[in-house]
Amino acid sequence: MFYQKSLARIPFFVFKELEEIPGLIHAFTSRQTDTVMIDAEGSGEVAPEKQLLLQTMGLKFNQLVFLHQVHSDRVVTLNSSPANDSGPTEVGPADGVITAHPTQFPVIRTADCLPILAILPEQRQVCALHAGWRGTRDRITVQGVGKFLKMSEASPDQLVAAIGPCIRKCCYEVGPEIWDQYKEAGHDVERFFMGGHLDLVRANVAQLQELGVSQILDSEVCTCCRNDLFYSHRRERQAGRMWALAGFR
Ligand SMILES: [Zn+2]
Repeated sequence: MFYQKSLARIPFFVFKELEEIPGLIHAFTSRQTDTVMIDAEGSGEVAPEKQLLLQTMGLKFNQLVFLHQVHSDRVVTLNSSPANDSGPTEVGPADGVITAHPTQFPVIRTADCLPILAILPEQRQVCALHAGWRGTRDRITVQGVGKFLKMSEASPDQLVAAIGPCIRKCCYEVGPEIWDQYKEAGHDVERFFMGGHLDLVRANVAQLQELGVSQILDSEVCTCCRNDLFYSHRRERQAGRMWALAGFR
């Protein structure tokens, strides 16, 4: 169950199922988390509200790992513990990160693209992915979660994948060239496209299932339909960015 909660009067969203995993801290921010617009690229400054959110969650800014997101299928691995005292770790260009060190908190920034948090509760490890139409076409989920499972020597049934708010098939009309590219890449276009609309969630769920992952949580929220709660690049053009973050205490 995906629901809104608040800490110190700062609202954000969580999955109830993930809250039950011992030691795991996670959040999906919303518009209401930022009463002050954050820097769209998120590099550098954090709005006071997000700082307060981090504080309330018991996190330090230098535990965060930001990705220089470029709509690729590149997934990087961070083995070291946080070394930077003054600020967050920045990695990339990449659209996925695997943090072997549990106290690092990758942050995926989106405004319609799909954020995926993949969690291994027993291994206390997290993989976070940014999947837009390009990353999905290039199978970032298969690559990222596949690498994650291999690295941690975990079996797919130990993994929990959480699909955050993103633009859904109701609102995601795309041009025929995208259908062509998916077809060419060998995707099941009959299943992933409906009347010119792309179903990003279905395409990524298929990639998770291909790996044998069955514990898949879906927020079932469309950022474009629920523009009152979330940023939508499609609807707003100049949108802010939500954060999806997770890590272990
Ligand atoms: Zn919609």
